[in-house]
Amino acid sequence: MPGVSEMNIREKNLWLFDVDNTLIRDVDHPDVFQDALRLWNALKTKGKTNAILTNVGRLSSRQIHDVLESVGFHTEIEKTFSAGAAAAAYVHNRSPGARCFVISEGGATEDFVSRGLNVTNNPPIEYVAVAADRGLTFAELNFATKMVREGAQLICISGSFEYRGVYLGMEDVYIGERSIVAAIEHATGVTSVVVGKPLPEIFTETMTILGFAADDAVMVGDNPASDIAGGNAAGMTTILVNRDSENIVQFDSQGHDLKPDIAVNSLEEIIELL
Ligand SMILES: [Mg+2]
Repeated sequence: MPGVSEMNIREKNLWLFDVDNTLIRDVDHPDVFQDALRLWNALKTKGKTNAILTNVGRLSSRQIHDVLESVGFHTEIEKTFSAGAAAAAYVHNRSPGARCFVISEGGATEDFVSRGLNVTNNPPIEYVAVAADRGLTFAELNFATKMVREGAQLICISGSFEYRGVYLGMEDVYIGERSIVAAIEHATGVTSVVVGKPLPEIFTETMTILGFAADDAVMVGDNPASDIAGGNAAGMTTILVNRDSENIVQFDSQGHDLKPDIAVNSLEEIIELL
C-alpha cells in the first residue's frame, strides 16, 4: 500500500534534481546514472518541468548546464541553479549591485557577474563570497579576512568540508569552501552565512523563479543532509535515491528533518509511480 505522497507523486509538476551522485557521478566525472536519465525522460514525456538545484559552486550555472546537456539531460540554462547562482541571488535580494570579492575557480564569479553584482578585487567590499577554489592564494585569503574584519558580510557558497574531484589533471580529495571559510571565521570571529542546500530559502527562491508552489514540487537527491533536509524544510515532497555512500558529500543539515517522503534504490521505482 503506497503512502499518501507516493499516490500523489504523479500530480507534481516541478521536479528539482540534484546533480552529483544523483544524475551523474560528479561534474568532473559525468558518468550517467541510467535510472536517473530514464526518470528524467519519462517526466519530460509527461510534460513535467525538470530543473537543477546543485550545491556545486566551483562551476557556474552555464557550465553545469553544459556538462548535463553533453550527457543527455536536456533542459534550459534558465532552469539550472548552481550554488553560486543561489548565493548571487541571496546577495542581490539584499543589496542589488553590491561590491563583492569572490573567491572561486571562475564559476561562481560568472554567476555573480550574470546577476549584475559588482565583482571587484579592491575595497570597499560589502560581501566576501567564498566558493571552492583549488588555486586559492594566501593574498586572496588574507584580503578576504581583512575585508570581513572591516565589516564585509561573509558568504560561504555551498558548504562542503571536502569533496572528490579532478584539478589540473589530478584526482584527489580536496578541501571544500566550508573549510576555507572556517579559516576566515577563526581569524575574524565572524560567522558566515552558508548559501547552499539545505538552506530553505534557496529552494523557495528557485520554485518562485520557476513559478511553482512547494506543494506542486519534488526534490530528488542522494544526500539526506542537503537535498532532503532542505526540500523538507521548504515544504516540498522529497525523494532520496540510495547511491554509493562513498560519494555522498558531507554538509551540515542545520537541524532540519532528514527523513525523505520516499526512499528508493533506483529511480526506476519512481517511473512506476507516474
Ligand atoms: Mg548529490
